[in-house]
Amino acid sequence: MRTLLLLLTLVQFEGGAWQTAEIEATAAQAVKILAQCGIAPEKPELLRADVDARFRDFHTPTSRELARQLQPRTPAVYFVDGTRQDPAFEAEAIGRGNSRSRPELRDTVWITRGARDPAVVLAHELAHVLMDSGEHSDEPGNLMRDETTPQNTRLSPAQCARLRERGAANGLLF
Ligand SMILES: [Zn+2]
Repeated sequence: MRTLLLLLTLVQFEGGAWQTAEIEATAAQAVKILAQCGIAPEKPELLRADVDARFRDFHTPTSRELARQLQPRTPAVYFVDGTRQDPAFEAEAIGRGNSRSRPELRDTVWITRGARDPAVVLAHELAHVLMDSGEHSDEPGNLMRDETTPQNTRLSPAQCARLRERGAANGLLF
């Protein structure tokens, strides 16, 4: 299996709740979970956003405005303080399928400071983006179970195949 490279853009907010070391550690651990699919990390790009405090929460209208301004290379992970979405998820992934009405957010993940097990959460959301699928799994121990826990980190061969194929086809792995 050829190793595919994943180059993430990590968006940090000046004055935000996430410290640089936490962001880097979370991203590194998340990519380590995806290594089971033959994915290796390129050194991520840290993008520091010095913007109004209202942009530090995930909220579709303001986050679209922010993404339009920043235009980060994707896949991009925004380390937000919280969310103003209803329902309020601790993290959200926006792939191709769920970005038609909000194209600026395509191939991005938004993770809140309150997320429990942030590395597993980030790996789960990145898998949604790379697979371009919102599907979940009932398999014990699977990363794509609805509930993210440190014990749920495995991906099946079929999930890895889809992740690699869609990720490469969408220009997110190379
Ligand atoms: Zn999910």
